[in-house]
Amino acid sequence: MARLLISKIAGLLIILSILFLFSCSGLREIEQTECASSEIDFSLDDDLESYSGIMSFRSTNDQSVPLQSIGFFLLPQRTGGNLEIGGVSMEKSVPRWSVENSILSIHFNEPVQPGGEYKVQLEFSGKVPRTLRLPGIFFRTDDTAALGHFYPMPIPLDGKGSFAPVEPSAQGDPIESILSRFDVTFEAPSRLRFAASGPVERLSEKENRVSCSVSTGPVRDFYLLGSAEWDMVTKVYSGIRLSSWYPRGKMQQGIDSLYAMEEALKIFERHLGPYPYNTLNIVSGPLGSQAGGMEYPGIIVLNDNYYTNEDSHYLQVVIAHETGHQWFYNLVGNDPVMEPWLDESFTQYATWLYFEKLYGERSGNSMITSFQNRWDRVRKAPVPLNLSVHEYEGREYGAIPYGKGPLFLFTLRSYFGGDLFDRFILDYQKTFRWERMDTEKLRDFMYGYFGDEGDALFRKWVYGET
Ligand SMILES: [Zn+2]
Repeated sequence: MARLLISKIAGLLIILSILFLFSCSGLREIEQTECASSEIDFSLDDDLESYSGIMSFRSTNDQSVPLQSIGFFLLPQRTGGNLEIGGVSMEKSVPRWSVENSILSIHFNEPVQPGGEYKVQLEFSGKVPRTLRLPGIFFRTDDTAALGHFYPMPIPLDGKGSFAPVEPSAQGDPIESILSRFDVTFEAPSRLRFAASGPVERLSEKENRVSCSVSTGPVRDFYLLGSAEWDMVTKVYSGIRLSSWYPRGKMQQGIDSLYAMEEALKIFERHLGPYPYNTLNIVSGPLGSQAGGMEYPGIIVLNDNYYTNEDSHYLQVVIAHETGHQWFYNLVGNDPVMEPWLDESFTQYATWLYFEKLYGERSGNSMITSFQNRWDRVRKAPVPLNLSVHEYEGREYGAIPYGKGPLFLFTLRSYFGGDLFDRFILDYQKTFRWERMDTEKLRDFMYGYFGDEGDALFRKWVYGET
């Protein structure tokens, strides 16, 4: 698209500005909220295959009953690699623990009372596979290590004194975890450059090894990617450092990606509320035919195919969509496996916002047509929106949360008017910022804006009532 065909001169200006921008901080404060904290210290070996480390997880029992046990999901066991637990300890005791079905269960010797704090320390070691097997972007090549979900991921509590067991999704986002701040230190081959859910600091370098640290704000999960095959362009927009890591030699596409992400950020901050961190990265990843992109807090992975083909439109669709997830899934959280429509349908709405506001109504309308085309794939079947990933069959997953879902939002928008809908969506983001959303809470909140008529539409579209 015309706006993204940045001239080489603009590219040069960005490179020059990197030197300047690195010399002055001027970044906004990272937003904070009450949440768990995770400290991870690990080492990745020279061939990028094996890693091991220690994780300390601290949280409070925010349920009304004593907490007997907690759980962590060991996702690498499901994605062609491995993650083993070597030991579990607490400050004053050694709890009972076991691993079954890729879930580490820890049973406290003394239950944690409501409001009480607990801290566990886990020793882990893992292997990164050579092939990408969804869900989650976790794999390596000779010179790239993509470390999605490489650590034991804390599973949300069930409200009954334990945790809610999970079966990860085979497509889309793998599991829901607990909102946490991360302080991660790691040692890895120094040939790699890193991007993560927060700013990566290179602390020291010795004999082809580098020590780094990353600290994040509150995030739903932590992502880290290292590659020896990247170059990077960066700029600061409104106190946020935007960085685009692209395959060497593909600077134009790297710059295009940076600008698309910046435009998305501008539009979403205006219409959905402030972005919470002071860094946002877009990184290329060899995702093959398995995924166009993937969102993680503060970082978006974009299929490196987009850096070789000329389809600027679809590149922007993916970037706008994955950037939109920073608001729907990360800021306003939900269980992406049990209720994927809550993040995917709203993120599709955000994608429409990008095209409508940047290129005008015609471009926005063509996005709406693309949602209709998706729903047409299942002949506009009245499949409910609030199904889990596991319940959608065949083409339904791509058609319902990504097609029918945004069309439900546009139905409300055209029925009640753009002004009211815009106020609703901004207030939705403000009211449930950092919270965990579910379909019933959304229904109640929508009722406050759209009343009985809106509720009738909700029941028809979301529950499939006739
Ligand atoms: Zn998505």
